[in-house]
Amino acid sequence: MTLLVKGGWLVHEDRVEKGDLLIEGEKISAVGPELKAGGAEVLDAAGKYVLPGVIDAHVHYQMPIGDLLTADDFYTGTRSAACGGVTTVIDYAEPCGPGESLRAAIDRRLAEAQGQIAVDLALHLVLFPGQEEDKESLKEAVEQGLVSFKVFTTYDQRMSYEAIGRCLLRAEEVGALVTVHAEDHDIVTAARRELTEAGLTSPRYHGRSRPAEAEVVAVGRIVEMARSLGARAYFVHVSSGEAAGLIASARAQGLEVYGETCPHYLLLTEEEYATERAALSLMCPPLRKRTDNFRLWEALSRETFQVVATDHCSYTPAQKAAGTAFFNTPAGIPGTETLLPLIYSYGVRDGWLTLPQMVRVLAGNPARLFGLYPRKGCLQPGSDADVVVFNPRREVTLEGENLHSAAGYTPFAGFKVRGYPDATILRGRLVYYQGRFLGEKGQGRFIPGRTRK
Ligand SMILES: [Zn+2]
Repeated sequence: MTLLVKGGWLVHEDRVEKGDLLIEGEKISAVGPELKAGGAEVLDAAGKYVLPGVIDAHVHYQMPIGDLLTADDFYTGTRSAACGGVTTVIDYAEPCGPGESLRAAIDRRLAEAQGQIAVDLALHLVLFPGQEEDKESLKEAVEQGLVSFKVFTTYDQRMSYEAIGRCLLRAEEVGALVTVHAEDHDIVTAARRELTEAGLTSPRYHGRSRPAEAEVVAVGRIVEMARSLGARAYFVHVSSGEAAGLIASARAQGLEVYGETCPHYLLLTEEEYATERAALSLMCPPLRKRTDNFRLWEALSRETFQVVATDHCSYTPAQKAAGTAFFNTPAGIPGTETLLPLIYSYGVRDGWLTLPQMVRVLAGNPARLFGLYPRKGCLQPGSDADVVVFNPRREVTLEGENLHSAAGYTPFAGFKVRGYPDATILRGRLVYYQGRFLGEKGQGRFIPGRTRK
């Protein structure tokens, strides 16, 4: 099938230009002004932006935590992705514990996604303590296309800082990038104990139970390790302005450290925890202050951060309501579908980001960092035809019931966005058009990442 996306403003990472995009089969075959394609189906993009399909580089669909499973499975999660202009998501393969082999964890996760996903999928690999020593298995994982590892400084699967140091080195040896959930475990534990002893355990104390200081200390320790080892490190979901400052100064000194933040840290504040919506906005790390919002936008604008992703990890209001305390309320929120409209409306329209910058943080950078470029992340001949036709004039007030996540709510309810995807194209096929999901379960593919070596 041949499809001509005609007369739009093509947004690349370095420029915006008026032109056409020709799609043949699953690939972009030509980009340029006034393309001729007899017999092609034409999608009129006049007055619209034509963007590379968005990559949400941090999602958790169909994730078990104890005996609870997230509201979104691979199908509903990726369906909501398609409806928000997201054509690739990066989820996680996670061993059940230190005993499960990496190979088994990866095969299990791929089997879960198989036949279910409606957009393309890549995977990060979660490592438990000790697994960083198994160089052969790490190498094998990289060959299978999992080119980024995830480690935690807190939770049950936490690694000591020393082990994370070993992990950074191992990852360099096999060409992978280590992504870090950075919250210092001792600080989190102490804060939680103090609140529990004082009887302050309702979800409204969630922010105080995981203070920004925990993130700042953990980011600081790992930046120092990256410096002394000459290794790269990527911080997921950075929530505080101060941690952003540490990453900025490390980068200014030439370190290869990277940062990701999420729409909720840019747009919501800890004041949510003082409302009846506390549980619905409960995620880790927690929301911070208005000043943090601004400092994070600034960090994005100055390219201290390379990626905006969502950490989509959705629960229904009923699942959330089963929690009685900040420590037993399921942590996580839905986000993939609203990523692009929010970053366009509050990032580009409000002047923090240019259009090319938005394309870098939502497509080009995650594609490069996670080994998907140039197959994904750009509008170039030869690339997968993952394309969003984005209408900068379409106004939408976000409401959970109009979105496609099984969570059934959005923490951004009531946010007015101006600019919304009109159409999403996944490898040449129209999967979303003006409010309707047109894709199919199982049409997504696993896309192996490639190392830069
Ligand atoms: Zn996460």
